[in-house]
Amino acid sequence: MKLLLIYTGGTIGMVQNAEGELQPFEFDGLLAQVPELGRLDVDIDTFQPWEPVDSSELKPAHWATLATSIAKRAEAYDGFVVLHGTDTMAYTASALSFMLQGLSKPIILTGSQLPIGVLRSDARENVLTAIELALTQEQGQPVLQEVAVYFEYQLYRGNRVFKYSSQDFDAFNSPNWSALADAGVHLEWDRDALLRPDGGLMLQTDMNAEVGILTLFPGIDE
Ligand code: ASP
Repeated sequence: MKLLLIYTGGTIGMVQNAEGELQPFEFDGLLAQVPELGRLDVDIDTFQPWEPVDSSELKPAHWATLATSIAKRAEAYDGFVVLHGTDTMAYTASALSFMLQGLSKPIILTGSQLPIGVLRSDARENVLTAIELALTQEQGQPVLQEVAVYFEYQLYRGNRVFKYSSQDFDAFNSPNWSALADAGVHLEWDRDALLRPDGGLMLQTDMNAEVGILTLFPGIDE
């Protein structure tokens, strides 16, 4: 099987320099932190769509670049895992799900609360399990055929998940859609919650960035 591991930035790929400041790892340095990857029965290619950045820097144009990069390589890989900062991971996951409609392959975003080089980091588990989930197939078909976020033992639908904690390892939640999978001793899938796209891939990267969100509250002035 073949998997594309995409590195966009975020805390996961950070390391402390001599002055104690966090700076991004090179991709190879990042992979060296997860030697267990060598034990998986998979060919992993790596790809960096841009220089690694904090996810608060990302804009709709980045989502379009990412979606186009995945669409171009859709036939060549069985699945995609995207390493991403946690702050805007849910936005990127949601955007990709609409830009890549009909792509019936696993696309899993993950990241971590602590940099991968730190002793208690949650990064290694998140990366390894995201890859395992992306590679899970039944009767020659991927079990996951949509964009999802994997974090702290749960796999969530990409356009239903949100980040709710900057302190807990368990940082994401999806109150309006069941988790797609639970990674306990076994990987347990919620089959009723999984999307089964029909039709082929329709790449659609146009987005109107001039739309804002206004939260209504009781007593808001017209
Ligand atoms: N500020 C970081 C980011 O979103 C936080 C993280 O990765 O956890 O890129």
